[in-house]
This record gives sequence, C-alpha cells and structure tokens, in this order.
Amino acid sequence: MAKVVIIGAGFAGQTAALYLADGLNTRKHQITMINKYDSFVYTPSLVWVGSGTMKVGKTQFPLRPVYERTGIHFIQGTATEVHPDEKYVVVERTDGSGTVQANYDYIVIATGARLDFGATPGLGPHAEGETMSICSPPHAVQAWNKLDTMIKRLHQGERLKFVIGAGFRGATCQGAAFEYLSNIHKILVKEGVRDQAELLWFSNEPKLGDFGIGGGRGSYHGKLISTEDFVHAIFEDTGVKWQIHRSVDKVEKGRIFWEDENGKHGETNFDFAMLLPGFAGPKIQYIDKDNNNITTKIADAGGFVKVDATYGLPHAELKNRPGAWPAWYQNPTYPDIFAAGIAFAPPGTVSEPHTTPNGTVIVPAVPRTGMASGIIGRVVAKNIVSLIKHGRMGHNERMSEMLTICIASMGSSLWDGLASTLVVYPVVPDRRKYPNEGGRHLSITQMDIGLSGAWMKRMLHTTFMYKLKGYPGWKIIPE
Ligand SMILES: Cc1cc2nc3c(=O)[nH]c(=O)nc-3n(C[C@H](O)[C@H](O)[C@H](O)COP(=O)(O)OP(=O)(O)OC[C@H]3O[C@@H](n4cnc5c(N)ncnc54)[C@H](O)[C@@H]3O)c2cc1C
Repeated sequence: MAKVVIIGAGFAGQTAALYLADGLNTRKHQITMINKYDSFVYTPSLVWVGSGTMKVGKTQFPLRPVYERTGIHFIQGTATEVHPDEKYVVVERTDGSGTVQANYDYIVIATGARLDFGATPGLGPHAEGETMSICSPPHAVQAWNKLDTMIKRLHQGERLKFVIGAGFRGATCQGAAFEYLSNIHKILVKEGVRDQAELLWFSNEPKLGDFGIGGGRGSYHGKLISTEDFVHAIFEDTGVKWQIHRSVDKVEKGRIFWEDENGKHGETNFDFAMLLPGFAGPKIQYIDKDNNNITTKIADAGGFVKVDATYGLPHAELKNRPGAWPAWYQNPTYPDIFAAGIAFAPPGTVSEPHTTPNGTVIVPAVPRTGMASGIIGRVVAKNIVSLIKHGRMGHNERMSEMLTICIASMGSSLWDGLASTLVVYPVVPDRRKYPNEGGRHLSITQMDIGLSGAWMKRMLHTTFMYKLKGYPGWKIIPE
C-alpha cells in the first residue's frame, strides 16, 4: 500500500487529489488531503463577491462529500511541519483538538499563496490596515461592504477616488485586480455615478498590460497588437487613469506612499483602495531526522518549494532559457516531495526586473493562475500514480510549454456584461521556438473584448465547480 498526502485543496491540490483517486485503487492505497478549511473556494469569482454581484456562498462547496465519494481521507487542519527523512507531516487540527501525524510515501505541497500584508506597512483589511483585498472570501465580503458605502456616498453627491492594483513591489495576480477595476467601473456606470468617481490603476508593472508575463503581442481581429495597446485602449474607453512601475513604501489612512522607477518618492491619495499584497509560501518547517531545521534546503527565501528548475540565473539568461522552468515539479533533494500551483518556486520572473537608484527592485512575479495550477496538479498526480504503479515518471509540462487564458469580466451579467480575454501561448516565452521579440506564438496569442467573454467567464465558474467536485465526466473538462 502506498500513502500519498496532499497539502492544500485549491486548484492544484484538488485537481491532484482527483487524479490520484482516479489512478489508484483507494481501497489498496491511501490518499490523504490536508486542508485548513472544509470547503473549496473558487477564487476567480471573489471578484464578483467584492463587487456585490455574487453571494460568497456561491463561490464554495463542501469538500467532505467529494472525498467520501472518491475514497480520499480528509484531515481538516494546518500542516506545520514536514519530516522528509521519516516521511510524515504534522498537522494542527482546525477544531483545536491538537495535532495529528500523517505518514506518506509521496507528498504534494499545494498550499497556494500566503497573503503577506506585513511586507507593506499599513496594507490590508486587518486592524492596522487601510486597504481592501479580494483574495479570500471574508476579504471579498468586506471589500463589497466598503464599496457599497462608497456608492451611497457618490449618490449623495460626493466625488471619490478609487485606487486598484498592486500594493507590493513584487506583487503578482494583476489580472484579478484589473478585473476588479473593470467591475467597479461597470457598477458605477450602472448606478449612474461614474462621473463623480476617479478610477486609478496603480501597479508595479513596467508597462500597461504586462500582467507579470512581460506583456507581449498577439492577434486582435486579424491584426497584431501589443497587450499594452489593448489595455491602453480599454482604459481610454472607460476613463481609467494609471500610475505604473511603482513600489509601495507604506499606506496610511487615505494615502499611498510610493517610490517610482526613477527612485522618486511621492504619494497618491484614495477614498477606496484594493491593493494586492505580496505572496509568500506557507509557514511550514522542514525538519530532518536529526531534528535540524532544513527549511532553506527545501524552500526558497519566500517559502516556495524548490523543484527541478534552474535557479540563480540572471534575468538576461533566464529569458532565453525556457528549459530552466521546471517540468516535473519535484524537489531535487527529496524526490518524493512535489510542489504544485503557486507553492512551487519559479526560477525567476518573466517581466523585466528594474532596480531604482535607491536599490529597490520593482518587478511583478510570474502569475501561477488557476489554469496553470490545475495543469501542474494533474502532471504531478499522474507522475505519482506512475511511480507507484511502474516505478517511473512519464508526464511533464513546463510553463514555457503551457497555454493560459485570462478572462477579465466587466460585470457578471450574461445580457450586458463584457469581458476582455487574453489567450497566451506559451505563458513563459520561448524565444528559440518563436524567435519574435515576445517569444510567443503570434496567432494563438490573442486578445478580444465582448459579451462572449462574459458568457465564458460565467461558464468557467459552473464547469470548474462541477469538475472539482469530481462529478461524472470531470476529466473531460480541461484544467
Ligand atoms: C481575486 C482573485 C481572482 C483570480 N482570478 C483568476 C482567474 O480568473 N483565472 C485564473 O486562472 N486564476 C485566477 N486567480 C488565481 C488563482 O486563484 C490561483 O492561481 C489559484 O487559486 C492557485 O491555486 P493553488 O492550488 O496553488 O492555491 P489555492 O487555490 O490558494 O489553494 C491553496 C489551498 O491550500 C490551503 N493551505 C494553505 N496552507 C496550508 C497549510 N499549511 N495546511 C493546510 N492547508 C493549507 C489553503 O487554505 C487553500 O485551500 C485569481 C486569484 C485571485 C486572488
């Protein structure tokens, strides 16, 4: 009997769990999921929760019934330690009933991002924080409550400023913030108060439309355009202003203090701000058989698990080495440890890093989106099944071989909604295979805007929730 433990029931971990249960006889082998909460959260729809167009309950489903049906053992708790020599995980149960030990032959770390508000003083919706977040269900509810108050104030004739974007010099997930901004624009138009609101895109991106993937060019209705021109046109059309290539030093009530690319310091005021925090890895400690803490051997400084990538290359070299991106998502020191989704340590950024005269490095981290996380979860699970059954691995997919689709809605309505869609292939440019300036396939990489995108975005919500419940035919629905 083999034992497989997965930490984290998000896009990566839940996909991995379903593929493991599908590939292994769960009466013969034990698959254990460890997750802090007993519900799955469909994070992309938190944008709609934060803009008041979807109830938070609609973004979640209970995990236990899925695991009972598929034969997966479930521990609700937080993994705090991994002992890779003795192959066990220490879990603090969520109900406060103490710790439990889960043994494994293979482990998948799929813990997503820890929201590191602390990296930017004053950032976040907690007691000392001044800004909103839409990164978790309670945050998204809180953001909507605040936004609703703002809309009421606009109705009373006030003029207010809304600032949306990135609150940390290395923050990623710009697509989610961009979508939130688009949704706020749409609500304000619907409410008839858009004229009284100033909307500002505030980001660490070197250019508009960078999105942490270095921007690039693609087809738009048969013409080649850049993502910069695409986003520029949307902002011009919707009256959104922007401040980019900025690192947030700190936030105080109604004021964002920043440093720009030239090292100049300044401030931007706001009435409502939703700024994404930096992402960090989980606070899991790795302990060896002699009780030494070997976390720095397994994870990078941010807490992300090191895998089969080539680390330490300067950006100029990494950008021409698509093979430096991991293929198997397997830890080189302990090959029975895999990391999937946001939890794996990327070898660097895709966007161009910039160091200001003050030594501040401003660069968005590469987004490991829901789609990429799901694909990696599948690759890892299939390899573990293959290792258990045949003693070897056979599946790999680098982000430099992966397609991604980002759909940013503008409202959730299927009648008058709108969405901008960005299809990018590959996510990480491959300048050897596609020797154009951007390193991407120029006809697969596409941009569009229209009602069909809004239908797609709504459909993704329903089909992904269906797939991740492991209902009949779930495997046909691609990650
Ligand atoms: C507002 C928003 C909108 C987004 N929109 C899109 C979109 O439209 N399309 C898209 O592709 N991507 C989108 N993303 C990104 C997408 O949500 C992430 O890429 C995806 O969730 C990453 O999956 P994951 O499995 O790595 O992590 P997660 O989905 O975050 O899952 C991690 C899980 O691990 C659990 N966990 C963490 N630490 C521990 C621990 N120590 N012990 C036990 N459990 C633990 C967490 O509770 C969680 O359940 C969006 C993100 C946000 C914030």
